[in-house]
Amino acid sequence: MAAEPAGAATVTKILRGLRAGAGALQHRRMSVKVSAVESHLAALRACERCPRMHRPVVVGRAVASRIVLVGQAPGDKEPKLGRPFAWTAGKTLFKWFAEAPGWTEDEVRDRMYFAAVCRCFPGKRPEGGDRVPAPEEITNCSAWLEREFALLRPALVLPVGKLAITQFLGERPLLETIGRSFRIDYRGHAVDCIPLPHPSGASPWHRMEPGRTLLRQALALVATHAAIKNACHPPILR
Ligand code: SF4
Repeated sequence: MAAEPAGAATVTKILRGLRAGAGALQHRRMSVKVSAVESHLAALRACERCPRMHRPVVVGRAVASRIVLVGQAPGDKEPKLGRPFAWTAGKTLFKWFAEAPGWTEDEVRDRMYFAAVCRCFPGKRPEGGDRVPAPEEITNCSAWLEREFALLRPALVLPVGKLAITQFLGERPLLETIGRSFRIDYRGHAVDCIPLPHPSGASPWHRMEPGRTLLRQALALVATHAAIKNACHPPILR
């Protein structure tokens, strides 16, 4: 094998050193970010701003991800199980992500930051079903979402269900939002927004046409987004 000229060997060595330095710097930045997310979640868990909401606060894993999934509010099972989308709606949601981009539930939870319009269970309505969070509760909890945007600077946001979609796109029919990607500005952060319908069994929208086809289009947009393609296992704290 031909020997590498002395000058070229030195350049190769310098490049290797620079790459290793950049990798170490990236790793250090990521660790700092994960600990910032962990501190954020600790503060969020202690939140008591809404007197009508039921504790505990439900949060996801401490992932420093540039993909933020925004649900509506937890149901009565999530506080007991200690994670968002832990019950029937979650089963459907993770089935969608298994189809596109082809991630397991664990991969989704490790690669996306789970936020919500409200992080506490609102309680049941006297006539049955979960209470819709009041406007002041939505405003209270949006302060946490704002902090998360400042911390994570997401490239992609996935609002799930009408209440979540409304926070980013205003009131619009699902027919005009699902299956499309929007470039939006959320509190000073430019971000791509791909809305998804709510996977709850209560709504047949995503199981009937044209909802079924629009959902497939939305999932195809999610799967081909650069933030999804670039997603790797970020450092997590369970
Ligand atoms: S809903 Fe949000 S703002 Fe209200 S108590 Fe729960 S975490 Fe705090």
